[in-house]
Amino acid sequence: MSLRIVVTVKYVPDATGDRHFADDLTVDRDDVDGLLSELDEYAVEQALQIADEADDAEITVLTVGPEDAKDALRKALSMGADKAIHVEDDDLHGTDAIGTSLVLAKAIEKAGYDLVISGMASTDGTMGVVPALLAERLGVPQVTLLSEVSVEDGVVKGRRDGDSASEQLEASLPAVVSVTDQSGEARYPSFKGIMAAKKKPVESWDLSDLDLEAGEVGLEGAYTVVDSATQRPARTAGTIVKDEGEGGKQLAEFLAGQKFI
Ligand SMILES: Cc1cc2nc3c(=O)[nH]c(=O)nc-3n(C[C@H](O)[C@H](O)[C@H](O)COP(=O)(O)OP(=O)(O)OC[C@H]3O[C@@H](n4cnc5c(N)ncnc54)[C@H](O)[C@@H]3O)c2cc1C
Repeated sequence: MSLRIVVTVKYVPDATGDRHFADDLTVDRDDVDGLLSELDEYAVEQALQIADEADDAEITVLTVGPEDAKDALRKALSMGADKAIHVEDDDLHGTDAIGTSLVLAKAIEKAGYDLVISGMASTDGTMGVVPALLAERLGVPQVTLLSEVSVEDGVVKGRRDGDSASEQLEASLPAVVSVTDQSGEARYPSFKGIMAAKKKPVESWDLSDLDLEAGEVGLEGAYTVVDSATQRPARTAGTIVKDEGEGGKQLAEFLAGQKFI
């Protein structure tokens, strides 16, 4: 029987772009370019490697996000995933981590799965909580923060590296795992992969497809509220030390003044 892998991939604002808050204190996602969260590329890579080792496997990439989030799905498809699901609904605006995990869990149940692979954290919210929330909602084991992962005979195994020890962990499928940026370099999409991705199926679901009500998600359903947000001040020019024989001394004085040394 085919091993059904669902990879959760998030479309995030480009960190190198100019990011703003919208009037309702949510992140302004319309005004900035986005991309597949880099940490989720590792999750796609691990899914591809597990699928390569399996007799028969199918990888579905899943995102909850605005219209442009399709770009993240296309990237994952061009890396080699088989199909994609995009959950998009205007009522998702302002959804927090708890709401996001609810929508993802409903979509994963509807899609059918044996193994869910997530990134260790998104590169914008960086809460690192969604995989655990997902496992709880799905009622399956979670094996998080793996730097090595494999599947054999209905069991997912992996290594979690801590500061003082490495643990070998395993769980019976179905299960949720998350992988770190130490799990192995993510492949670049090949030209063939990019062309093939254009023909791969992308399903779009809204809240009604998942039997969810608007009040369960979005700002209305959020457990967290942003009270205030202040744009970080623009960076000021750095101090330039001109070396006219005393450069080293001046540099040391500057570093000491800043308490770096
Ligand atoms: C349209 C939209 C509007 C939102 N508005 C707000 C807002 O105004 N305020 C607010 O607090 N939050 C908002 N969120 C939710 C927020 O952006 C995060 O998705 C959510 O809080 C999860 O936290 P995180 O990104 O830190 O996830 P983490 O827990 O750091 O993510 C870990 C992993 O979970 C998976 N994952 C997380 N999010 C998604 C996703 N959306 N799709 C697929 N996989 C995912 C990825 O595999 C990721 O690597 C919104 C989300 C969406 C989709």
